[in-house]
Amino acid sequence: MLISLIAPIYNEEKNIRLLTEKIDQTMQQYQYEYELILVNDGSKDDSLHIIKQQAQLFSQIKYISFSRNFGKESAMLAGLNACAGDCAIILDADLQHPPERIPEMITYYNEGYDQVVMKRDRTGEHVIRKLPTQLFYKLINKAVDIKLTDGEGDFRLISRRVIDSILSLKEYNRFSKGIFEWVGFTKKTINFKNVERHEGISSFSPKRLIDYAIDGIISYNNKPLRLCFHFSAVTMALCILYILITFIQILRHGIEEPGYFTIIASVLFLGSVQLFSLGIIGEYIGRIYYETKGRPHYIICDTNINETDIQKKVR
Ligand code: UDP
Ligand code: MG
Repeated sequence: MLISLIAPIYNEEKNIRLLTEKIDQTMQQYQYEYELILVNDGSKDDSLHIIKQQAQLFSQIKYISFSRNFGKESAMLAGLNACAGDCAIILDADLQHPPERIPEMITYYNEGYDQVVMKRDRTGEHVIRKLPTQLFYKLINKAVDIKLTDGEGDFRLISRRVIDSILSLKEYNRFSKGIFEWVGFTKKTINFKNVERHEGISSFSPKRLIDYAIDGIISYNNKPLRLCFHFSAVTMALCILYILITFIQILRHGIEEPGYFTIIASVLFLGSVQLFSLGIIGEYIGRIYYETKGRPHYIICDTNINETDIQKKVR
């Protein structure tokens, strides 16, 4: 049995050595046959250099280096495209996803589970990050058809069946958390403790997290569009009611009030409803625009993996 480990890497120069050593130690200890695919997502620091050094030391290391930063989603996809294992484990390079837990994941895989998901408890995490995240999950589970769980992220083992199902999805805008749930199969959840990243800082700024949240909500269905429709239907009904009442009053009493406030209020309100709806429609059109362009998710500029090995799986 070959196990593929996939780690997306963006500016992780201080973590790569420890990561590769820890993984090798764990895998050797349990005598697992493995390959480690390090995907350099356009790092601006010395990451690629260190990846190449480590690849000299460990023959199991394969690397893919992008021509620029394409984002973690693309990096994970590249890893899945290139992996040859019977199952794959995706983990962050900053050691927030402890490699020591890999054997446990493999045990459950051997028991027959197709997905073994590591669920992170958020103890010790800053409230500024914790609260919006919890809010996001409340919101997204209302908006989309699949159920997403707080703390269940990309740290997971997936079987070959799951890998192939994921690779068969052609969409450009990828939201992995949703895709993993969407493809289904049997799933086992294990808890793990949240730890600080080993070195460096997180590359997900608040703005990037908000963008990610919008991606999650929009990527699944057209419920937000439908919401716009319902919302405008209600406001339109209220408007008609208001016009009727005012008209009857004018017929009975003539024009008495200057009506300044009501006019401004309704103009502002309707304006905001329209902007809101336009915004949502725009989000969808933006996505259609990207999908129709049919661009690749990433461009590889350097790799030690045989070109044909990658190509045969890339669509
Ligand atoms: N990452 C990546 N491309 C990016 C941003 C991040 O490949 O554009 C990688 C990063 O190197 C790490 C993982 O994705 O291995 C998670 O990133 P980070 O630790 O910054 O996110 P957080 O843990 O704070 O959610
Ligand atoms: Mg991290």
